[in-house]
Amino acid sequence: MRYPEVFDVIVVGGGHAGTEAALAAARMGAKTLLISHNIETLGQMSCNPAIGGIGKGHLVREIDALGGAMALAADRGGIQFRTLNARKGPAVRATRAQADRILYKAAIRQMLENQPNLMLFQQAVDDLLLDGERVTGIRTQAGIEFTGKTVVLTAGTFLAGQIHIGMNNYQGGRAGDPPAQRLADRLRELSLGVGRLKTGTPPRIDIRSIDLSVMQVQPGDTPEPVFSFMGSVKDHPQQVNCYITHTNERTHEIIRGGLDRSPMFTGVIEGVGPRYCPSIEDKIHRFADKDSHQVFVEPEGLTTNEIYPNGISTSLPFDIQLDYVRSIRGFERAVITRPGYAIEYDFFDPRGLKPTLETRAIEGLFFAGQINGTTGYEEAGAQGLMAGANAAARVLGREPLTLRRDEAYAGVMIDDLITQGTLEPYRMFTSRAEYRLMLREDNADQRLTPIGHALGLVDEARWRAFNEKMEAIAREQARLGALWVHPDHPDVSRLPGVISRGVNALDLLRRPEMDYQQLAQVPSLAPESPLPAAVTEQIEIEAKYAGYVDRQKDEVSRSVKQETQVLPDDLDYSQIYGLSNEVRSKLETHRPSTLGQAGRIPGVTPAAISLLQVHLKRRS
Ligand code: FAD
Repeated sequence: MRYPEVFDVIVVGGGHAGTEAALAAARMGAKTLLISHNIETLGQMSCNPAIGGIGKGHLVREIDALGGAMALAADRGGIQFRTLNARKGPAVRATRAQADRILYKAAIRQMLENQPNLMLFQQAVDDLLLDGERVTGIRTQAGIEFTGKTVVLTAGTFLAGQIHIGMNNYQGGRAGDPPAQRLADRLRELSLGVGRLKTGTPPRIDIRSIDLSVMQVQPGDTPEPVFSFMGSVKDHPQQVNCYITHTNERTHEIIRGGLDRSPMFTGVIEGVGPRYCPSIEDKIHRFADKDSHQVFVEPEGLTTNEIYPNGISTSLPFDIQLDYVRSIRGFERAVITRPGYAIEYDFFDPRGLKPTLETRAIEGLFFAGQINGTTGYEEAGAQGLMAGANAAARVLGREPLTLRRDEAYAGVMIDDLITQGTLEPYRMFTSRAEYRLMLREDNADQRLTPIGHALGLVDEARWRAFNEKMEAIAREQARLGALWVHPDHPDVSRLPGVISRGVNALDLLRRPEMDYQQLAQVPSLAPESPLPAAVTEQIEIEAKYAGYVDRQKDEVSRSVKQETQVLPDDLDYSQIYGLSNEVRSKLETHRPSTLGQAGRIPGVTPAAISLLQVHLKRRS
């Protein structure tokens, strides 16, 4: 049966990539279908119930600045909020929310169900419909065909998913869900460059069976950080504590004793796992000199007794899991509710993607999320938004959404993926960005909301709030810039530091010993009425870091010409004089879109870039 209506964008998969993709396409006005295995699992967190963290929080703020759902859902579902690196510089400060997974999922579903232009449908997708090298729709398990001008595939860990617990293994998309085997078989027939990766999760434990009183308490921050630029503390549900305990030598001994039945150590698992989120057996093997590892005890929600023991992910046999869990302080009588497991799945070499996340091999087919070799909800969400927006832009005849490395972490991630590919699950870190000082969480709205608004991704309420904030910042900066403090000023004794000559209040704020709060407490310098924290934070950061940011901006403008010089799709590298065979073959394989991307391909030398520049000049 062929469904009677034609869609502009069909999104397959309702995880973190798929939900952002569908919402973005629909916000832009494209007629969108989101089709997923199960409507009940839309926005499901497969692993840890937390959003954000260093690098990841930056992505969440960027999704939010572009009108996306993740930060809003984190505010509605977050049961503990913290600012990581709070004492470090603003570039590496990051928000993290422990989430109630039921509330989080409900918030995402509510946004999906209330989004105009978006239809939800529950079915497994088994096949892509193709016309030559162009996608025309999808076919479901029940034989229903949907026609789509573009398709965004966000199948997560489900493609040929294989779950491992000890030496037992079986097919599955994640515990309790079916794999996408037929679709995986079909995709393997296309020329897309497939590989295998793996990830894992810890056993879950009933909180009533553990002794929290012997663990270190980890409360949330006060005042509570808020994730979304449109959010408020009032959106937050009840807040709870997390706890910390540790593995010990006995735990490690038990784990070592089970390695002969570990699918990872016996070679049953071939896929490469996330280096920065290793299983406990991997940690004990790799850091053999450490006799203890931290375990964060994180509640899974307000209405469940399950906790997530962060730090002990495993695919060891269940008897070993039970023994090692019960060897940990406070877990002596632990009741496990779900065993830990590892999952192997297909991913596709992201070097086969354009900067818009459209596949090079099949016109109109976009990939986003774990399928591109990344790991994490935030990485998936950011790609989903970009892919959904680009699929919609393609159909609606609008400019594509591509972000440069100096504009967004989303830009850094996509550029890394499409130019360098990945051999292990890719996750975001602030260290991946060369222009960190410009890509802060706090200024994601300034970087991206105008771009999102121009594309139709940002609604009027957000746009108005953004403009009001920007105007308030500009007004206060002008006021402070015009307020002079001289050595004989009556309030000078209330200010820290020495005032030996006239200085304006904005310059005072640049001093390391001075912050906005102190300034605002001096009656003659205080604003008429208190300003929102988001406004005063910007004024302070902009005053203190202006010099460094300007230097980064200079660096960016020096490299921008090379960065943006387009390499035509039909460029014949065999005709470029002087390129080595190695460089030529790398350029042919990667087919970079710009000279900047070409320069980041490992092995492409500055000399080769000069040859390319000369060639392009001759061509033009
Ligand atoms: P998913 O969230 O997996 O969503 C895919 C969606 O597509 C699902 O709704 C599925 O039902 C649907 N779908 C798939 N195929 C089809 C089809 N053919 N037809 C219809 N619907 C389909 N990340 C971390 O950062 N740290 C971790 O420690 C970590 N551990 C993990 C452990 C496990 C066991 C798993 C499964 C994942 C783990 N992750 C971890 C990864 C994290 O869950 C993913 O990165 C993230 O969920 C990816 O989002 P996604 O949207 O790409 O895919």
